[in-house]
Amino acid sequence: MTSKKALVLGAGGFIGSHLVNKLKSEGFWVRGADLKNPEFSPTGADDFIIGDLREQEVCRRVLDQNFDQVYQLAADMGGAGYIFTGENDANVMHNSVLININIVELCVKHKVGKVFYSSSACMYPEHNQMDPDNPKCNEDSAYPANPDSEYGWEKLFSERLFLAFQRNYGLQARVARFHNIFGIEGTWQGGKEKAPAAVCRKVAMAKEGESIEIWGDGKQTRSFLYVDECVEAVRRLVESDFSGPVNIGSEEMISINDLAKMVIEISSKNISINNIPGPTGVRGRNSDNKLIGEKLGWQPSRPLREGMERTFKWISEQVAKQ
Ligand code: NAD
Repeated sequence: MTSKKALVLGAGGFIGSHLVNKLKSEGFWVRGADLKNPEFSPTGADDFIIGDLREQEVCRRVLDQNFDQVYQLAADMGGAGYIFTGENDANVMHNSVLININIVELCVKHKVGKVFYSSSACMYPEHNQMDPDNPKCNEDSAYPANPDSEYGWEKLFSERLFLAFQRNYGLQARVARFHNIFGIEGTWQGGKEKAPAAVCRKVAMAKEGESIEIWGDGKQTRSFLYVDECVEAVRRLVESDFSGPVNIGSEEMISINDLAKMVIEISSKNISINNIPGPTGVRGRNSDNKLIGEKLGWQPSRPLREGMERTFKWISEQVAKQ
């Protein structure tokens, strides 16, 4: 039996590199494409093309046949320090939208079986996420739209783009809205890292009795999903008949200060928290997993603490290596 062929765009990135490994473990032949190789271990892909997917010519080389499945994860993105300062707004919108426009058209041209698009919880309206204890992120609450970042607006446009191609050109699209995915082999320094990795790095670098800086008052809330759970949910969505958009996240909401306290406890160090002004995004955000439960029977299987323990251990090793 010949194996199914999958193409992973953004395969040099955090979630993309984990997804490649997952697809390989399921017996797929996988081509990856990205601007760069995965940073922390060699790609698991059978074939890997380095190139800039903003260029049509590169996209034509990468997506040159009728893949059974295409996973579009390539995007210009980062954590709060990248997305919420405003400094990268033009690039974030321009770069990601070019990739999506190139890819969606080629998916139709080559009659790919299914295409997965990774949207983000950042597309949800800011006005529903002002109360840290009561954020509203059910899929139906997306409109009237009011994301708090240009990154969120681009995601909203692009999820609509894939679904419009589904309606008009018979594309089989699957759209998920990821809520803060974290884990080992993710960016942990350099300005694009997200809160879980940043907190782990700060705690790993702090000495006994020192304090770590946390942006904002620390009362802002989020939920975090371990990357293995994320790629499992993505696979289930793609194999299902449901197009989405659907949340892929955890409902275990926690304040950022409590997340920091959790990591400090894991480290067994005596460290305090110093809340300083910084970019924070909305006050509260939590995944709402009702729809994915109904449609796919999926829920995260492990608690946040377990993923944070693994991530802290891995980031501590990276810090020690430097
Ligand atoms: P990542 O930054 O690690 O991966 C994205 C990859 O896209 C990077 O390797 C980058 O090099 C690549 N890329 C960017 N521009 C490119 C270009 N012009 N040509 C080729 N490759 C290019 O991010 P991630 O955390 O793995 O996220 C994957 C996807 O999931 C993204 O679309 C992101 O917006 C979405 N998402 C992630 C999260 C999260 O918490 N990590 C949350 C919501 C949505």
